[in-house]
Amino acid sequence: LQVALRIRPMSAAELAAPPRPIAHRVDEQVVVLRDPMQDPNDVLHASRSREKSYIFDVAFDSTATQETVYRATTQGLIPVVVSGYNSTVFAYGPTGEGCGLGEWASPMAMGGPSPERVPSSASGCGKTYTMLGTDGEPGICARTLGELFQATPPTSGDVEYEVSMSYLEIYNEMIRDLLNPSLGCLQLREDAGGTVQVAGITEVSAINADEVMQLLARGNRQRTQDPPAANRTSSRSHAVLQVTVRRRHRGRGLRHGRLFMVDLAPPQRAAQTPPRGQRMKEGAHINRSLLALGNCIKALSHRASTKYINYRDSKLTRLLKDSLGGNSHTVMIAHISPPPTAFEESRSTLAYAHRAKPPRTTV
Ligand code: ADP
Ligand code: MG
Repeated sequence: LQVALRIRPMSAAELAAPPRPIAHRVDEQVVVLRDPMQDPNDVLHASRSREKSYIFDVAFDSTATQETVYRATTQGLIPVVVSGYNSTVFAYGPTGEGCGLGEWASPMAMGGPSPERVPSSASGCGKTYTMLGTDGEPGICARTLGELFQATPPTSGDVEYEVSMSYLEIYNEMIRDLLNPSLGCLQLREDAGGTVQVAGITEVSAINADEVMQLLARGNRQRTQDPPAANRTSSRSHAVLQVTVRRRHRGRGLRHGRLFMVDLAPPQRAAQTPPRGQRMKEGAHINRSLLALGNCIKALSHRASTKYINYRDSKLTRLLKDSLGGNSHTVMIAHISPPPTAFEESRSTLAYAHRAKPPRTTV
């Protein structure tokens, strides 16, 4: 298990307001979060630290490029999957409901990405940016598929490869095919070998790396989002890209390696917009699946017996059953936004990521 953390850049609106960013990357592994509510002149509580440090396997800030994040987190999974083992990459993080909207800062000023890549508003914390990215700055999904295609020429010597992908969302504990939403709600099945499959899902194979980005972007537009009235584009589903590498070795049979790349739905906080009816049910499903996932990952990182891990608690953990633990590699990339308004969300995100893998060394 590897746990990484990424902090997105400040938007112009966020930078223009007097409060400065409160989340900082201190070094390759350490992130500090400052509590904006604690007065530095408060001598009575001077002993209570205004800052808390969190240590991760790797930490990124706004200067980190898509390439850097990909190399440090996911690139190493390619040989794992090609040799027939499973892996999972998650993007975790809040909605950024507290964050300001508006024009983005000049990237020069913040040492961030080049101007044409900078969006005009920000509310999310960068999960979809990390996983999907943009045409000019592709994220982890397209980069991984591109390298997988290169690593698996259809035939090389005695080995034959076949790479295929499917793209689905889990919304309200229902599985929808993002490449063909008209299929409706799909079911999970366990095949004869005990592998969990999504019955009837569209599997696309042998497409080139350029087509992948278009396919993913199209699929992502099919995701269940907040209603437009909510004035943000926060996703309300987990988006799961599943890549299967089949390797046929003459005389040694067939091996399957599966890689899941998951853009998780943000945890739902009841306090902010008191949810009712459908929203409340959705929120409960999202939180339950994030909790189940956190418990699975935590149990695995503590090397507890996998016998007691309750994968059945959510569709997401059922789907990922053979891609968490065992010989599988798991990477979680947690995301936070830097402004003071995001303090509560950032704190709980850092805590979730931290719980997944308590550090061996303390700061
Ligand atoms: P989420 O999926 O977590 O809700 P998004 O990935 O949609 O958040 O990010 C919100 C906005 O911020 C998007 O417009 C996105 O392009 C931008 N953004 C996020 N992270 C970065 C980054 N590291 N560099 C540049 N822009 C970013
Ligand atoms: Mg998103």
